[in-house]
Amino acid sequence: MNAIKVAGAGYQRRELRQWLPLTTPFALHLFPSHYCNFRCAYCVHGLPADKIRSMGSKKTIMDVNLFEKCITDVLNFPERLQVLIFAGWGEPLTHPNIVEMVELAKRNDVAKRIEIVSNGAMLTNDLSKKLIEAGLDRIRISIQGLDSVRCSDVAGVNVNFESLLDNIRYFHANRKNARIFVKTVDAAVPTDADRQIFHGIFEGICDEIAVEQVIPVIKGIDHSRFGSEFNKRHCGGLAVPVAVCPFPFYMSVVHPDGSYAPCCSSELPLPLGNVGDTSITEIWNGEALWRFRVTHLKGTRGGATLCRRCPRPQYDIQEGDDLDPYAGELLSAYQRLAHI
Ligand code: SF4
Repeated sequence: MNAIKVAGAGYQRRELRQWLPLTTPFALHLFPSHYCNFRCAYCVHGLPADKIRSMGSKKTIMDVNLFEKCITDVLNFPERLQVLIFAGWGEPLTHPNIVEMVELAKRNDVAKRIEIVSNGAMLTNDLSKKLIEAGLDRIRISIQGLDSVRCSDVAGVNVNFESLLDNIRYFHANRKNARIFVKTVDAAVPTDADRQIFHGIFEGICDEIAVEQVIPVIKGIDHSRFGSEFNKRHCGGLAVPVAVCPFPFYMSVVHPDGSYAPCCSSELPLPLGNVGDTSITEIWNGEALWRFRVTHLKGTRGGATLCRRCPRPQYDIQEGDDLDPYAGELLSAYQRLAHI
């Protein structure tokens, strides 16, 4: 059966405002590794190495005991997460214990769905088999081009496209209950003919497929080679400005050193603590994060933090997540919870 064309992260989203305030985040993004085997020009890894080192996290690889602590913390939320995503600035498959991490999360039933976001280059047959057996529900694979030359040009390293295809074929053929979502960006398939080729290559070896937009959200990257207008959102639709950033309302992010962030931004918008010293539940329910959400509902975007100049909400917001029309009605509930 051919893959389904999808938008967004590839699944039906709920209208966010009707679920707020959330006692349990919908999504936990765990960043197992800030190391990446690719250097994609539109990504954080397109920045100079010293700049990457100075950003956000003091560790490159998450300690397994910190990961175990995250799982314990999450079990203290009143509900299961909708999704646990192994993603981040780095390639999750570079973590030597990624299989055990998936297995532990699955065994503890922390989320309805466990996913990995990967470039697919390290997805050997053996690793695929282990991840599927560990209970991975879904893998999202980002494709950088339609042949080795174009993939290597965008990825900044040599990429063997045929071997990448073999990896995807194997995962697809042996996936059992897991799903495979293959996506690329507009810059990698700029013409209609390219998009047809992309679909022709991948539709038969994945469950879901998408062409997304490169968006100019990383400070220091020259995005101009990937587009000139930047008038579309990452997952489609017009990139119109929004006042309220929705991410702190439904997601938690943990970096390899345990730093907690309210979004996937390449810079931490404010210090909210480290899950090694406190817990994800305490931070999620803590006054600092409630107050931060209130600033967004008031239209002041985190006071003096980098949120004010952050383009991510405009470009990365997903359908159903626009809170602007409901900011007034949400404000009193959040002020009460923030004890303001
Ligand atoms: S405005 Fe930007 S930095 Fe602030 S929470 Fe949203 S995505 Fe993060």
